[in-house]
Amino acid sequence: LAKRFIGLEKSIWIEFGALAIAHKAINVGQGFIDYAPPPYFIDLYKETLDDPNILLHQYTRGFGHRRLVDAISNVYSPYFNRKIDPLNEILVTDGAYPSIFNCIHGFMNPGDEAILIEPFYDCYEPMVRSAGGIPRCITLKQKPESTKADISSSSDWTLDKNELESMFNSRTRLIIVNTPNNPTGKVFTREELEHIANLCQKHDVICISDEVYEWIVYDKNKKHIRMATLPNMWERTLTIGSAGKTFSATGLKLGWTIGSQHLMHPCQVVHQNCVYTCPTISQEVIARCFEYELKRLNSPECYFNSISTEFLEKRDKLVQALKECGMKPVVPDGGYFIIADYSQFAGDKFQSDADDMKDFKFVRYLIKEKQLATIPVTGFYTADHRHLAENYIRFCFAKKDETLDKAIEILRKLK
Ligand code: PMP
Ligand code: GLN
Repeated sequence: LAKRFIGLEKSIWIEFGALAIAHKAINVGQGFIDYAPPPYFIDLYKETLDDPNILLHQYTRGFGHRRLVDAISNVYSPYFNRKIDPLNEILVTDGAYPSIFNCIHGFMNPGDEAILIEPFYDCYEPMVRSAGGIPRCITLKQKPESTKADISSSSDWTLDKNELESMFNSRTRLIIVNTPNNPTGKVFTREELEHIANLCQKHDVICISDEVYEWIVYDKNKKHIRMATLPNMWERTLTIGSAGKTFSATGLKLGWTIGSQHLMHPCQVVHQNCVYTCPTISQEVIARCFEYELKRLNSPECYFNSISTEFLEKRDKLVQALKECGMKPVVPDGGYFIIADYSQFAGDKFQSDADDMKDFKFVRYLIKEKQLATIPVTGFYTADHRHLAENYIRFCFAKKDETLDKAIEILRKLK
């Protein structure tokens, strides 16, 4: 293994994905939907396959299929309050993963620092390290009163402003912000984002804004705010999106980066020397899906508006069940996930040691002995800060009711 990947061998998705399959567990762990995407998605897929245009089976434009970048520009321009140039300000890749990879590898030199906000989506840290960068991690702090409550909110997890400021220095190259957040479900407030934005400007730092859950916000008062729309932030923000999350079809593995041309160039260079171009058919399908939604963007039927209503019931159902079985759920304001404190419930049976964290042991036990798959939350922290999250596991509620009911039945019996 090349030296730059040594120490990055472990992945929660590899370990727990395989374990869930091996034990035929009910999977409320990994973030994917186990029911059909919206009906028009399937129709447009079929329509695309039936299209007589044989060029749809050949390579397409490297930085994004023309029809797709046009559609992304048309859908997103109003949300970014500017006309997004489809050819120079959008880069289509094989999912949000490579979009993030392109940004990190396109900008970081060995010794540069990247600020990560814990808990963070786990791939950020290995991507920074493999670029020779140094992750500087700041932890969201849970308000003390909410740690005691039977039920609390993701908005109780906040950033200490002074601590954040102290992380910035002359070596800081970038900061990664993920709102709505995986795994907490936190939707960052305008004030929080403005504080980050001001620090980025003061220290000449780029912001990678991972917004793959942009359409999934539950509280009408907590709108998703795009970092790139804050004053002076278009020039220093790379916004990441995912077709898998947008159209509830994670198997698509298509994503994009939106940002100004000077920021896009380094990302394009990484992309052209690695992936070069993404599958044409999938891009054509997503272009047609965006065109379909574009006609009804402001109506409640638009999938981007209805998806949160669909998931809200599921969220509340799982929150209630977790509470009843003695776990302490943190109710998410957005996204697919609920983290819950299981410590009262599991007692002293599992303890962290030098080899393994307590939540990893508990999750393995649940999969192997109870056929219930969840994800350990310490997987979203750096080694030094893992102990802070050892009492939490993550549940995905973006599942059909039958799956949730089966998971709830197992939870009830555990009590
Ligand atoms: N960022 C976050 C916060 C995620 O939860 C995920 C998983 N959907 C990704 C990035 C990667 O998305 P994709 O499947 O499009 O690569
Ligand atoms: N993003 C999804 C999650 O957090 C899927 C992760 C994956 O499969 N790598 O569960």
